[in-house]
Amino acid sequence: MELPSELILNFSLEFLMRTKSHHHYLFVLVFCLGFVAINCEGVSTVSDHSTAVRVLLDKAIPKGKVRSLLYATYYRTQPERGWLTGERELEIASAQQAPHEISVNQKSFSDPFVFIRAGQSPSDKLSFQGRVFRGALKWVKKKLGFSVINYLTLEDYLLGTLGSEMSASWEIEALKAQAVASRTYAHYMIQHPRNEEYDLEKTTQDQVYGGVETEDPRIQEAVRSTRDQILVFNARPIKAFFHSRCGGSTETPAFVWNHRQGFPQRKVQCPYCQQNPFPWETFVKAEELLRWTGLDTRTGLKIEPGHTSTSGRLASLNFVVGTQRATIDTDSLRSHLGYTRLKSAKFAWKHQGDSITFQGVGNGHGVGMCQWGARFLAQQGKNYRQILAHYYPGATLQVSH
Ligand SMILES: [Zn+2]
Repeated sequence: MELPSELILNFSLEFLMRTKSHHHYLFVLVFCLGFVAINCEGVSTVSDHSTAVRVLLDKAIPKGKVRSLLYATYYRTQPERGWLTGERELEIASAQQAPHEISVNQKSFSDPFVFIRAGQSPSDKLSFQGRVFRGALKWVKKKLGFSVINYLTLEDYLLGTLGSEMSASWEIEALKAQAVASRTYAHYMIQHPRNEEYDLEKTTQDQVYGGVETEDPRIQEAVRSTRDQILVFNARPIKAFFHSRCGGSTETPAFVWNHRQGFPQRKVQCPYCQQNPFPWETFVKAEELLRWTGLDTRTGLKIEPGHTSTSGRLASLNFVVGTQRATIDTDSLRSHLGYTRLKSAKFAWKHQGDSITFQGVGNGHGVGMCQWGARFLAQQGKNYRQILAHYYPGATLQVSH
């Protein structure tokens, strides 16, 4: 079956690219996947209207290949130039004669970026760095190599992120609550993008996004049955934070990151994750911390607690050496030591000789939905609306357009 060329030129990714490049963050962008079906026998036409999202996949890569799983790849630089049909595999690199130019299978373009997409059938996808993606990839030439950004519908993005954020084997109501939280978070990031070129990163910096391989029938059910539903506060999507285990009560974003806008600053009790309390312990060499804080490593260290919230989380620690003093906020400390080492801000410590032992409960920042608590509530027969109402008090569930 040949792919139709005329209809592909009408692909509304073009509309998406223009809209995004002009920073019109409309809630509803059109990203039609169904036009190709007109020419495919036995397949009815489907127009999938959905919000679109841009996810950074990689940066500073010197060159690379994109492969279509079916048929051929299509590529274009400026929107007015129309799509070109490529081979099934395209190699993108800097042009040999002019390193500031992009070359696609040895053909040079003077533009600083190129869009690559597969055909328009839902089964047609792209492969990049061994992973499969829906939508299109934008390669942007930078001083140091290329950035690669995945353009796709928000609902497709959710299919590729939910399974990385919550096990697909968990109760469906917990998965649905996660789908709404992840969708709301992405909506917030579309309105407050990371930078001009993309909305989200594919890492824990935002939400872990693994592409098509992480999709699962239960994930699909959770995403599709909550389609377009998001949480709003003052008529805007909230930055719907979530975390693994709160350890007894959640926390406000104002306390953790001084994030005060557009989020109801309320914490809730959560005895539910205590079924799996997950106590943890981490050893750190005092010298490692002192070097980082810039304090003198030769004399004795004292560690004093900073402000503690009513949920038992520490806002900061004071490191004192003689007359020197360094106050470090706990989130910076967690970031420095690693979020998997200092798993939460609910901890105590023992300081013996050169060794500091942190002992704590909970896993994650504690803001918004506690995933293990959500799971327990789903096991008790609560539905996703009740779960969301518990963990995001003050926010309202609504359809995004
Ligand atoms: Zn909890």
